[in-house]
Amino acid sequence: MATLINEGKAKQLFTTDDPNVIQVHYMNQATALNGKRKEHIDDKGEVNNQIDSLIFEYLNHLGIATHFIKQLSDSDQLVKKMKMVPLEVVVRNYASGSFQRKFDTEYLLKFEEPVQEFYYKSDRLDDPFINDSQIHALKIATPEQLSTMREQVFKINQALIKLFAASGITLVDFKVEFGFDADGNLILGDEISPDSCRLVDAQTHESLDKDVFRKHTGNVMDGYRTVLSRLEATAK
Ligand code: UDP
Repeated sequence: MATLINEGKAKQLFTTDDPNVIQVHYMNQATALNGKRKEHIDDKGEVNNQIDSLIFEYLNHLGIATHFIKQLSDSDQLVKKMKMVPLEVVVRNYASGSFQRKFDTEYLLKFEEPVQEFYYKSDRLDDPFINDSQIHALKIATPEQLSTMREQVFKINQALIKLFAASGITLVDFKVEFGFDADGNLILGDEISPDSCRLVDAQTHESLDKDVFRKHTGNVMDGYRTVLSRLEATAK
């Protein structure tokens, strides 16, 4: 029988018959302000599961090692069980969000090289920014593991830029997380969806991601459904 292992902000994790495999259930829930604001949103789980499955299948196909095994149903998927590295790895191609606020730049200023940032995952500390030497001091990752994450995230960004561009979508920034699988390989885990990416229409710059929920600027599902239908049309 499947047992609930963990419930996050938008996903539940369950055991399966295989101790190295877990079932991820995408919930119809959105949160902001580190979970302080929480709302039910119809269909969000299904749409995000489909977007995430499509993206992870694409990355697996390109030879990028990920936790993704297969999509099980509309709102569930099977992934490898991982020991997660407590870091959020953010990549930015254009200025937005906290970068724009911190450095007071123009919105969507284009960077010549992608910007990489690390945040220490801690709800209690509000996920503080962390640099390489702080990561080493706290023994969160070795210099080699950090280089692996930097190299992988660079490749993932290049692949995602291309995938979204083919769908008329600009990838502004995104967040990923890594972990170790049962064999000790450091691979991509967690989720890639409009909950964790900033995506704008390439022509109009209309937001197609969670910013619509964060800023109360419209129906968040309109953008998510646009992302899914455009990715599906491109994948065909
Ligand atoms: N992000 C995320 N989870 C977090 C923080 C950020 O998925 O806990 C994503 C966010 O959706 C965006 C990118 O990481 O695509 C960069 O976020 P930023 O630092 O600009 O944070 P924010 O504007 O949300 O404060």
